[in-house]
Parts: sequence; structure tokens; C-alpha cells
Amino acid sequence: MPVACGPPVPSCRCISDDAEAAFAACRGTHLRSLDDDYHHGVDLTACALCGQRFAVRFDERVRFDSEPDDQTWQVVAVTPEEAATLDAARARALAGTRRTLIKHAGSTAFWRQASSSSRTS
Ligand SMILES: [Zn+2]
Repeated sequence: MPVACGPPVPSCRCISDDAEAAFAACRGTHLRSLDDDYHHGVDLTACALCGQRFAVRFDERVRFDSEPDDQTWQVVAVTPEEAATLDAARARALAGTRRTLIKHAGSTAFWRQASSSSRTS
């Protein structure tokens, strides 16, 4: 029987307070791409440890100077039901509406709590 992905496994690395460890774990298995533009993408991934599904949004702002482009990943956990029907627009809209893992290239990942309401069950 597959691992339930409802609420994340409370002790799993993919949702741990160690945001760098969570960032690595939540992208363990690529399931499908919802949007695959060169500078903006949305992927559906799963934690290789517990099976929790994640929507991973990637945005790149191209700089026209000698500095590296600004790259940002925003990761939110999704339920199996959401994962089954998730499209890029819905996945993009989820970032910020629930606990979101944020990683800027060259910086340490961090968690940001939901701006309005959060699901606790
Ligand atoms: Zn996990």
C-alpha cells in the first residue's frame, strides 16, 4: 500500500525545520512537470522518504549584467487529491497560502508561514 500523503509524516525530513534538508528531501522524486518554461516552471514532486507530494515553483529573473540570474524555488505540500488534478496556475497560487519552503540560489532555504490561514490537520 502506498504511503499516505495526507498530512505529512510529522518527523520526516521533507517538512523538518531544517529548511535545507527539507528542500533536498521534498524534491526527491520528480513526478511530472506542470509547466516547463525555460525561466519559470512548476513541478510535482514527492519525498523519496515518505511519499508526501509537493508543488515546486521555480522562477528565474534574468539579469543583463555580469551577476548570476536570480533563481527562486517555492515549495508547498499538496494532498494526493490536489496532486491528481493540480495544474500550473493552481500550483503557483498555492505558494504563500500555506507553509512555504523558499530557496533563493546562493542563499539558505527558509520556511515562511502561510500569510492568511494554515491547515494543521
Ligand atoms: Zn517526507
